[in-house]
Amino acid sequence: MTTVYLATGNPHKARELSEMVERENLALRIALAHELGGMPEVEENANTFRGNAILKAGALVDRIGRGNFALADDSGLEVDALKGGPGIHSSRYAGPKAKDEDNLKKLLAALRGVGECDRGAQFTCCLILADAKGGLMEFSGVCRGRIITRPLGRGGFGYDPVFVPDGYDQTFGQLAAEVKSRISHRARAMAKLVQWMGRAGED
Ligand code: IMP
Repeated sequence: MTTVYLATGNPHKARELSEMVERENLALRIALAHELGGMPEVEENANTFRGNAILKAGALVDRIGRGNFALADDSGLEVDALKGGPGIHSSRYAGPKAKDEDNLKKLLAALRGVGECDRGAQFTCCLILADAKGGLMEFSGVCRGRIITRPLGRGGFGYDPVFVPDGYDQTFGQLAAEVKSRISHRARAMAKLVQWMGRAGED
């Protein structure tokens, strides 16, 4: 069976994708990089989500074997009032060893005084699917919303407690995990990937 090796050590991402693959009844196996000896250290020094995802997929692709795929993702928060920042710097916004909490604090400070109408933002996800012959496919997902003025809720991770997705009045930190896994940037990119895989399987 074709295996998709995820260029991450994050089991949460593997579970999300496995569930979608099961729902669509696709003959695919989702595996983590540790089955191939672990995810190599990658310096994510590209200046786009796409560039960083390509670097991560490229670090694994030599080991996947013919007929299989490497899948990498890169994502982040883009805030309109910060001209798209923190963007690719989302995980290290408050410094190289920043924790989620530090990043949140820095974001709220940067938006102090910015009015309700100008707090628009989006999470963006770029997925890169690489095959053993060097072919690359790209799938993107965006989730629009706004940044509130103080953290609410304990669910999720990263900037979830300050992000209210469009159409809702609670943060990703407050909303049920099922809601996030339906409408998030990653879910939307993964849905496109799964759709493509389904069509490729029919050929
Ligand atoms: P990565 O692509 O998983 O490395 O995510 C990069 C950074 O973007 C994370 O460390 C978070 O700060 C932020 N981020 C990405 N996706 C989410 C999300 O779903 N919720 C909250 N923060 C996120």
